Amino acid sequence: MPELPELQAHAERLTEHFAGAELSGFRALTFTALKTVLPAPDDAIGHPLRGIDRLGKYLLVRFEPATFVVHLMQGGRLTPDEKQAAKPRGGLARWTFADGRALLLSEMAKEKRAGVWVVAGEITAQPPLEGLGPDAAELTLDELRTSLTEGPMRVHGFLRDQRRIAGIGRRLASEVCHRARLSPFATTTKLGDEDVERLHAAIGDCIADALAVERDRDAMSKSAERPGHVYHRDGEDCPVCGDVIRAIEYTSYTINYCPTCQTGGKVLADNTTSKFLK
Ligand SMILES: [Zn+2]
Repeated sequence: MPELPELQAHAERLTEHFAGAELSGFRALTFTALKTVLPAPDDAIGHPLRGIDRLGKYLLVRFEPATFVVHLMQGGRLTPDEKQAAKPRGGLARWTFADGRALLLSEMAKEKRAGVWVVAGEITAQPPLEGLGPDAAELTLDELRTSLTEGPMRVHGFLRDQRRIAGIGRRLASEVCHRARLSPFATTTKLGDEDVERLHAAIGDCIADALAVERDRDAMSKSAERPGHVYHRDGEDCPVCGDVIRAIEYTSYTINYCPTCQTGGKVLADNTTSKFLK
């Protein structure tokens, strides 16, 4: 799933190409792609695209009277639509512009989960952006400290909880824990001041590294192309200390970590949810 750095760089690329283009039409290509009824998407017709922004893991396709909020989920893509086929493969929604160009939201997965919400006014006070935590790209140390103490959670789960911090997913969560030298299972309310400072720095550094790679590209990376020290590197050597990178496998995701860097050498097992023990 694309996370903050991939989406941020993609929003910047799309803005560069499409900002200022006047919307001539919007069409949902499936019954479920458009999640809202009002305001009508047509309200934005005739208005220039102000830009494409990102908030958390959402893309915001912004026109003056209304914003299209797009969530790509696992495999959705928002891309220039060169062909403008009547029935594009995996097509969910299309924005057409007066200059003849178009943007296509598509998703190749069988189960279509990506979607579009049309919102106007205070867009962060309504679904789907309502309740999002502070954006990870602009998170202050104080905001992180406050969020960590709201209740005990495992750090890895905390980092992925969009209501606590917005923009981080499975890959970055493992990378941030490794960079901060914290166990993915460390309890948020038990972290010391130095732990919190390292965690805050690690969030910023991991995002900056991934963003630099992503901004160098012409299109959004595939997950195997994204940089990292631990994620999906089980069995490889830790680039920091040389220990073997370990994995904790869940049905829908994997946590990767280095025992020497993060857990005092201890190999973790999750007795409650690990798929091997179910
Ligand atoms: Zn290590």
